[in-house]
Amino acid sequence: MKLRLLPSSFDENGVYSAGQHLTSFLIDDRVALDAGSLAMAASEADRRSVRDIILTHAHLDHIAGLPLFIDDLFASLTEPIRIHATADVIEVLERDVFNWSVYPRFSELQNDNGPVMEYRPFELGARFNIGGLTFSSIPVDHKVPSSGFVIDDGSSAIAFSGDTSSSSAFWAKVNERDDLKAVLIECAFPDRMSELAEASHHFTPETLKVDLGLLKLDVEVCIINIKPMYRSEVIDELRATLDRDVTIIEPVRQYHF
Ligand SMILES: [Zn+2]
Repeated sequence: MKLRLLPSSFDENGVYSAGQHLTSFLIDDRVALDAGSLAMAASEADRRSVRDIILTHAHLDHIAGLPLFIDDLFASLTEPIRIHATADVIEVLERDVFNWSVYPRFSELQNDNGPVMEYRPFELGARFNIGGLTFSSIPVDHKVPSSGFVIDDGSSAIAFSGDTSSSSAFWAKVNERDDLKAVLIECAFPDRMSELAEASHHFTPETLKVDLGLLKLDVEVCIINIKPMYRSEVIDELRATLDRDVTIIEPVRQYHF
């Protein structure tokens, strides 16, 4: 399985940098997991291949690129963009984004070939397939209804937390999968911001260390969704705090699991 984080920040020369303002991962270059930077950072090849978008939750940094991605492709689509999301997330999108005030309601629009966007609702905890990839939803503990996933391509599997705070449900599901290659887990804030992390339901290195004690598998642990303003601080704290090596996921790089 291939996984790539799309970039969402730039240095003084306009070259992408590591800071992750927005979240969008591509799996096997064809399925988007969240759509934060999808429109802005997708290559032309990505634009041609991505027709399925899975949303973990409706926070802006995970959906910002969604309306623009569909807008860019509006005239050329020969099949709708399929949005896989829970009913809660779909309700937010229809009420607060695709409401004709913020952006057009693409679910009601067609081009010459037919509908341009359709919703594929899933229940938290449910399992669904997208072209050879199986997604098993795991409810996680964020400020809003949110889903992590186990993603399985038939030969390898990874677990992906999305945004979350401590979640025994997530680790229980992860521990059921002794075929996992890696766990991708968030760590948004440094420890000095533990109050904000708690209020917004995110991890810091200290709280993540406690949760990693619940992981019973000997798998690679990858860190995602670090707030860009605190990236180096969080990475330093993770190195000092955790009693295991972790991989810090970087944008653009293709990871193979
Ligand atoms: Zn969030």
